[in-house]
Amino acid sequence: MSNITEIFGSMVFNDDVMKERLPEQVYNSIQNTIKNGKHLDLSSANIVANAMKDWAIEKGATHYTHWFQPMTGITAEKHDSFISPVDNSNVIMELKGKELVKGESDASSFPSGGLRATFEARGYTAWDPTSYAFIKNSTLCIPTAFCSYGGEALDKKTPLLRSLEVLGKAAIKIVHLFGNEDVTSVKTTVGPEQEYFLIDKALYNKRPDLVYTGRTLFGAKPPKGQELDDHYYGSIKPQIKEFMLELDEELWKLGVYAKTEHNEVAPCQHELAPIFTTTNLATDHNQLTMELMQRVAKKHGMMCLLHEKPFAGVNGSGKHNNWSLSTNTGINLLEPGETPFENAQFLLFLCAVIKAVDDYQDLLRISVASAGNDHRLGANEAPPAVVSIFLGDELSAVLDAIERDEKYEGKEKEQMRVGVHILPKFPKDTTDRNRTSPFAFTGNKFEFRMLGSSASIADTNTVINTAVTQVLNEFYEELKDASDFTLDLHNLIKRTIKEHKRILFNGNGYDDAWIKEAKKRGLSNFKSTPEAVSHYLDKKNIDLFVNNKIFSEKEIRARYDIMLENYSKVINIEALTMVDMAKKRIIPAVSKYTKELASTIKLKEELVLDTRYERDVARRLSILNSDAYEITERLENEVVKANTIADLQENADAHERDVLSLMDKLRKTVDEMETITAKEFWPFPNYSELLFGVK
Ligand code: ADP
Ligand code: MG
Repeated sequence: MSNITEIFGSMVFNDDVMKERLPEQVYNSIQNTIKNGKHLDLSSANIVANAMKDWAIEKGATHYTHWFQPMTGITAEKHDSFISPVDNSNVIMELKGKELVKGESDASSFPSGGLRATFEARGYTAWDPTSYAFIKNSTLCIPTAFCSYGGEALDKKTPLLRSLEVLGKAAIKIVHLFGNEDVTSVKTTVGPEQEYFLIDKALYNKRPDLVYTGRTLFGAKPPKGQELDDHYYGSIKPQIKEFMLELDEELWKLGVYAKTEHNEVAPCQHELAPIFTTTNLATDHNQLTMELMQRVAKKHGMMCLLHEKPFAGVNGSGKHNNWSLSTNTGINLLEPGETPFENAQFLLFLCAVIKAVDDYQDLLRISVASAGNDHRLGANEAPPAVVSIFLGDELSAVLDAIERDEKYEGKEKEQMRVGVHILPKFPKDTTDRNRTSPFAFTGNKFEFRMLGSSASIADTNTVINTAVTQVLNEFYEELKDASDFTLDLHNLIKRTIKEHKRILFNGNGYDDAWIKEAKKRGLSNFKSTPEAVSHYLDKKNIDLFVNNKIFSEKEIRARYDIMLENYSKVINIEALTMVDMAKKRIIPAVSKYTKELASTIKLKEELVLDTRYERDVARRLSILNSDAYEITERLENEVVKANTIADLQENADAHERDVLSLMDKLRKTVDEMETITAKEFWPFPNYSELLFGVK
């Protein structure tokens, strides 16, 4: 492999490159744009665009694209070449400032939830200079936000950027209350850990369910699954190792801090953890990571599955959003400090997160809701669908002591006073690895574990940032004119703990007893996407987004529509794929095998041989196959029926209630047939082959 320090960021138009290639004055204006959000004037934009183009061409690029993240969750690109005609026979390579800062794109085929009237089929993309341009596939990619002509956000990045801005402002005000006047900016940092499956490409291509839906819709359990836990941190197979090396190298070129890669619990499941960075970059980088995983896998004869639940009975894939706040002076605000006053600041931010998560648990759940993730949440593997916070024993004991005006164990006789007493040191290891908690404090950051593996991290971070902003602003109002700051602070923290401790839970989140307890505590537990999404428009949620200027009410309603539409579409495609596979391949195959058994029975009877096996299996299969046929017919009808429902919520509800349940039923019947049908008759590669197919 080439020298890592040399290749790292080599395909990124980053700060170093800008410094080197831009006149000082232009460099300063772009810095002003990046750091302070100041508008970039057109003449500077022209110079930046030209430098960017020259740099990109030197690196072999021929095209440029405005790279954006529409509400589908994937990224979109519209490629233009740099070529511009100068006379009838010659061209020059150029990129103008106005092409850099604004690109038009036909928005009509991206979901917009009715925001875009049909006569207004164009949206526009606007350069987001806080995220660096980069080269991918010989194309200069310019990260952009995507809006309608009315200015409504049509993407996932715009609201995220808005939430970063308001959170930064709210956090600075609080930090200044503690006298830290040197702090001029606060940013959230995120490190998203990404899980994925790698399977053999040839086998993948033989499974229409994987090709069309990203998951197996049928498939009986293999004799060996993940029971032995022998895959986790096990040795990495050579083919996978080669893939990981190339993936790392490609990611490093793009400035993505890919760091640790290891096997996960399920066979052929793996994880990539990057080093954390600012949220905006982390979001772009995670999209790039997912894209490159898929591309590099193909080069190595494999397919990368990012679906949340590619295989039934085997762990699904999630994404862990490690989140914290840090100041421009290098302080992590979620790290307990050295002095009582620093500790008080830490406790205030901690309480802000606790209150935010409790007040907006529904929005957090909604931010991870998708048809794919419904197979994980609450299904005994990922965190349950109930949102709760894990703090660990020590920190919980501290909060307990504050709440009850009691002394903290291990301290002298005094009561625990915020701002007066120092917190005990929490060695990192005691913030134990409670893997069942959806929202775990891990020493100096929170890890939110409910995200699905294929999700963009933008939605979740928009919610966390906005909810924390809301609470920080409330705290600020209460503290800004305090006559006795330490006392008022103590009381605020004490009250917050009292009012929101229901969200704190250190135990096993997979336990049924917890689900019952959570219900008693009044925590929400939305089991499916349609149920979760139905709360998106609750007044308190609309108020949160509108008051903090993240969304207009119109934008929220559009997003609500899109989430529901998307859900119904996914279920619809899955159901139709099942119908197709059952009708054209599975049912005929089983019928053929039954016929084979029947002729064997006839033949054997003539020879007076024992036919118990053939009879048993033939009888069982003919019953099951008729069942499968009937369920398939009913499923087809339900799909048609569900699709006629005009109301989006009812439409999604019907898909969840009527279509999904029949899909489960069909799968059960078909999987049972698979276990007793001779392998040579079964039309698709089985679970053993898929899960253990990569050498
Ligand atoms: P491990 O879980 O392997 O011990 P860490 O807990 O250090 O590793 O980190 C797990 C993930 O959290 C990594 O992606 C890391 O970059 C990220 N992370 C660490 N510190 C922060 C932080 N302050 N803000 C956001 N993410 C962080
Ligand atoms: Mg983790």
